Amino acid sequence: MAKSLDLELAAVTKKYGTTVAVEAISHRFQAGSYSCLLGPSGCGKSSTLRMIAGHEVVSEGDILLGASNVTDLPPARRGTAMMFQSYALFPHLSVIDNVAFSQKMKGVDKSSRLKKARELLELVDMAAFAARLPEQLSGGQQQRVALARALITEPSVLLLDEPLSALDPFLRIKMRLELKRLQRELDISFIHVTHSQDEALALADDIIVMNNGRIEQAGSPRDVFESPATEFVARFIGGHNILESRGAPFALRTDRLQVAKTGAESGDSLAATVRDVEYLGATVNLALETGAGSDLTAALPDGLFFQDPIEIGSTVFLSWKPEDAHHLAG
Ligand code: ADP
Repeated sequence: MAKSLDLELAAVTKKYGTTVAVEAISHRFQAGSYSCLLGPSGCGKSSTLRMIAGHEVVSEGDILLGASNVTDLPPARRGTAMMFQSYALFPHLSVIDNVAFSQKMKGVDKSSRLKKARELLELVDMAAFAARLPEQLSGGQQQRVALARALITEPSVLLLDEPLSALDPFLRIKMRLELKRLQRELDISFIHVTHSQDEALALADDIIVMNNGRIEQAGSPRDVFESPATEFVARFIGGHNILESRGAPFALRTDRLQVAKTGAESGDSLAATVRDVEYLGATVNLALETGAGSDLTAALPDGLFFQDPIEIGSTVFLSWKPEDAHHLAG
């Protein structure tokens, strides 16, 4: 396999006519890391990925892979490979011919390219299906073939555009683990576009949260979850309450909100009405409304909740440790 290299975006901008889809973003993807570009639909994730792949012209800025500037190189000469959401397998070619296709285009002789394709199929545990057509495979199997096909070019960076979104929830979690294992084994960089917070938290060494064509925050999953930089990140990553106090917003994790049945409203205790109780298995979520009309959520461990259940409509008293309230930049 190829050597792992750092990939750097230097003030990269993408414009479609007058629409600015990506606005001067800079980021260094570390060699051999698993990165997720995370954000809502339309924030510029796919445009960023397509520019890295060379499928989209860069309007301004540079893309560097190791020491080389790849900004204007064609896709096949950049050292990257892309796995598409639809997998884009050729329906009339067998699994092994799909995987060997790019080698055929390069003029590699038949026995060498089939040998290589077989190695890749073994890597993704699909060697037994080499002779099948794509339509004779399940979604998860098609995805493995698409992975083998992208990896046969020996990329330094594999680009994945919403690779798990077509799979059912059970398979999605299974494939998520396989992608991570594959990335570790190959020791190359994966850059994975997703709008799923869970997926990014579970998979990534680095999460790049995008909003409106810009990078809102980049960091490890724990950095992003425990120290969201902005209100947008706190809301998008989920599991946080946004509280306002003297004009400054701060984030408080839903599992850090303490709920008491008795008490009195004071400087460090807030009365709230329980609007809903949601049982989620390991936790029970309370939907709460404060006197000032703010909606808050408290996530209680199931054991704690069922020791002394709280009824819808009752009044409770909320408190938290000062160190759990995390100030937001805006
Ligand atoms: P995401 O992947 O986060 O959903 P995209 O990168 O696809 O975001 O899109 C970012 C913005 O660029 C959106 O406003 C989208 O409508 C616009 N856009 C994307 N592709 C094109 C295109 N080919 N032509 C014009 N506008 C586009």
